[in-house]
Amino acid sequence: MKCLNCNTHFEGDFCPRCGQKASTSRFETKEMFLSIIKLLIGGDHKFLVTCKHLLTRPGHMVREFLLGKRTCYYAPIPLLLFLVALYAIVTFALDSTTSPFDLLKIKLNKDDVATDSAQQFVLFFQAVTDNRVYFALFSVLLNLLPYRFIFRKYNIARPDGTFASLNVAEHFFVLVYQTCFNMLLAFALLPFNAVPGSEIWTARLCMVLPTIYCIILYKQICSISWLRSTLLNLLSIVVTLFMSFILLLLTFGLLYGYDYAK
Ligand SMILES: [Zn+2]
Repeated sequence: MKCLNCNTHFEGDFCPRCGQKASTSRFETKEMFLSIIKLLIGGDHKFLVTCKHLLTRPGHMVREFLLGKRTCYYAPIPLLLFLVALYAIVTFALDSTTSPFDLLKIKLNKDDVATDSAQQFVLFFQAVTDNRVYFALFSVLLNLLPYRFIFRKYNIARPDGTFASLNVAEHFFVLVYQTCFNMLLAFALLPFNAVPGSEIWTARLCMVLPTIYCIILYKQICSISWLRSTLLNLLSIVVTLFMSFILLLLTFGLLYGYDYAK
C-alpha cells in the first residue's frame, strides 16, 4: 500500500511515517458534519476529556501528559488558544457591541491625561495588564524562573526509571494548563457579568480560585502535602511579585531615569 499523504509504502491500517489512515475515501456529507464536530471537541472527545480532567484531577493529568501520555490529552498551547478564541466568540455573541478582537486590544482610557512621558508609561502599563490575555501571558513567563527555583528539590519518577525535578519547559506547560483553568473559570463567571454589583466578588474569585488550583496542581504533580504545596506556591507568588517590581523599576529607570536626573 502507498500512503497518499507522504508516499511511504507500507502494510497495515495506518502509515507508520505520518500516521494517516490506509483508506481514504471521497468526502461525503457525513464527513463534512463530522469534521465540524471533530474541530469542536477534538477527535476522540479529546477537548471534553481534557477539560473534565483539568477540573477533576488536574495535577495527575498534567503529570501524565509531561511523562509521555501526549496523544489522549489536548496539548496546553492549542487548548489555551482554542479557549481564548471560543471566549472571544462567546462574549461577542452575548454582547455584539464588543468585537471578538477586543480580547487582544489594549484599551487606553481616553479620560486619563498623561502630563509627562513617565505617567504615559504607567498608564500604558496599566492598560496592558488590564487585558486578560496579555496579563496571563506575562504572568506565565514571570512565574517560570521562581517556580523552577523553588520546586528544584521535588523530583518526580520518570518513565526511564530516573528521578528529576521539573525543568523550565515543563513548568511552562503546567502554568499554561493553569491558565486554561483560568479561561474555564472566565466561562463559568460569564453569566454573572449581567448581574449588577457582581464585579467585586467575581474579581476576588478570579484571584483566589486560580491560586488554590495551582496549589492542587503542584500537590498532585510533585506528590507533596497540602501544606508544603501551599507554602511553596505562596513563596513563588511573592518572589514573582518582587521580581516583577524590580523589572518594572529597571524598565522605568532605563526609559525615564535620565529625564528625572535633569
Ligand atoms: Zn504517510
